[in-house]
Order: sequence, then C-alpha cells, then structure tokens
Amino acid sequence: MKARVYKSTGSWYLVKTEEGVFMQCRIKGIFKIDGISSTNPIAVGDEVIVEMENELEQTGMIVEICDRKNYIARTTPHHNKQRHIVASNLDQLLLFATLKEPKTSQGFIDRFLIASEAYHVPAVIVFNKADLYRKKEMLQYELLKEIYESLGYRILLTSIAKKDGIEELKEILANKTTLLSGHSGVGKSTFINAIFPALDLRTQDVSGWSGKGLHTTTFAEMFDLPFGGSIIDTPGIREFGITDISKQELSHYYPEMRALLHNCQFNNCIHINEPGCAVKYAAEHGEIYMERYVSYYKVLDSIENATGY
Ligand code: GDP
Ligand code: ZN
Repeated sequence: MKARVYKSTGSWYLVKTEEGVFMQCRIKGIFKIDGISSTNPIAVGDEVIVEMENELEQTGMIVEICDRKNYIARTTPHHNKQRHIVASNLDQLLLFATLKEPKTSQGFIDRFLIASEAYHVPAVIVFNKADLYRKKEMLQYELLKEIYESLGYRILLTSIAKKDGIEELKEILANKTTLLSGHSGVGKSTFINAIFPALDLRTQDVSGWSGKGLHTTTFAEMFDLPFGGSIIDTPGIREFGITDISKQELSHYYPEMRALLHNCQFNNCIHINEPGCAVKYAAEHGEIYMERYVSYYKVLDSIENATGY
C-alpha cells in the first residue's frame, strides 16, 4: 500500500498510509537511487510503497520509493560532501526571519532563496516580531519587501506574539506541504503552538512540536496541520545545498541576473570584473538592486573559499 514518510531516523521510518494509519517501517535491503546505493535513501515527504510486517505492532517494510516531484538537499561536510535529501515533494519553502532580536541577515535570506531557485520550490518569507520594529526596522522591511516582491517572492509581516498575521499564514499553509526554516529564536515554535490546538500536535508522537521539544532532535519531521496540509520542521539544518553550486552557476539562481545573462559578453561570466558584463552594468545603473548584487558577491566569495580557489 501507498504511504508518505513523516520521519526518518536512518533506521526507522514513520509513515502514514493512505488510510491514515501511522506505522513504523524499516527498509528492505539497500536501495539504489540514480545508480547510487544508500542505506538511508528515504526522506521526509517521500511517497513509498509499504508492506505490512507485523499487523499487531503496526510495523512494516518499505519496498519502493515513488518518483519525487522535487526535493531539497544539503551537503554533509563529513561524508565526502555526499548529498543528503532533507525533504521531498514540497509545495513551498517558508522562511521565518526577523529584523530585530535576532536580526536575520540579507545574506542568509538570499542563500535560502538560492536553494528555492535551485530546487524549483517556491519561497515565502515571513518577517516576524513586527511589534518590536521601530522606524529603522520598518524602513528596512519596506525595502526588503520591495526588493523581494519585485523578484516574485511572497513577503509577509507578522507578530506571532500579538497574533498578527496568523490567519494569513494559515491560508498560505493550507492544503500544501511546506518546509519550515529559519534561525533559532525567530518565533517558529511560537507560531506552531499558535496553530495547533493544545495537546493535539500528533497523537502518535508527542515528542515533536511541543514548544520545548522543537529543535531538540536532529531529524526532519512532518506534521499534519489541523486545517489541511502539512509542515516539515528541519531542526539543526540551517542552510540547504548551496555548496554544490559552482561560481559560474550562481547567478542562474538570482532571477533578476538570470534574465540578463545572455547579454554578457562572455558566457562563463561571473559578473565581477569581466568586460561587457550586463549584470554589473545593470547593478551600477540601478536596473537591478545593488543590495542583491552585493549579496551575490558575498555568496560567490564563499563558494570560492569552499572550493579552495
Ligand atoms: P524558534 O527558535 O524559531 O522556535 O523561536 P521561538 O518560537 O522559541 O521564539 C523565540 C522567542 O521569541 C520567544 O521568547 C518568543 O516568545 C518570542 N517571540 C515569538 N514571536 C514573537 C513576536 O512576534 N514578537 C515578539 N516580541 N516576540 C516573539
Ligand atoms: Zn556578466
């Protein structure tokens, strides 16, 4: 029978069958995906075929992984830069950011958006703790909103503590599979606690979203939302697979730069010092946001460092 993976620990997988029953499963043998065998090939969000193993204990065996619509990966530095699939079959990525206590940097936001572009999953950015914003932060917010909305991303201002914006967020999440991300301290658990009815996180496993429990495990986990759809928490995962991206490739994941690439004189242009660069020209002439160009430059620099050039 068909099921969806809600949690993956590497040895056990919590799945929910099409009939809505939660089961603990193991995998049968070693799976090969894209010709690469792996002992932990299964990610949260995967659709799988399971066979019942022990009906009494509700345990099963995963015998097949269905094709993924999409996925988000990250590179694990310790495993020979092996790519680890964080989650799959996503409808959107939701970034929780703040402009105060703590301040999320634009670089962090842009790296998140690079992942959204690279993996082809739409992104929504929430700026939370609006109640703490004074004139300075409101001006910053207005600028970021202008920049990111012009690029096609959805931006929201919320104050979860004051219950502002929760209804709009619920509408965004309803009936979709959303990967939640953001630094610690930005209000993710406060938001989750606000949208789940008390004590009803998931009857099968109360160790997950329960305020204190959040981010204490290292495994991604999916939760059904009371108003339809599901949300995936990615504890401990701060950034997705940006290190896989080459210098030449990077600007492809900046939509405003992508649109200009064919105007650059050199087709392997990285838009820094090359003659006839359309991207640098556009940044210098206010045709694209200089803030984004500067952040591009910084990300590019980090790629150079990572690859040792
Ligand atoms: P997480 O690490 O992202 O899960 O963040 P938490 O939900 O634990 O929130 C961190 C702190 O920020 C807690 O003390 C929350 O009460 C507080 N917080 C959450 N949302 C808001 C908000 O909208 N405004 C203010 N002022 N504080 C908030
Ligand atoms: Zn160029």
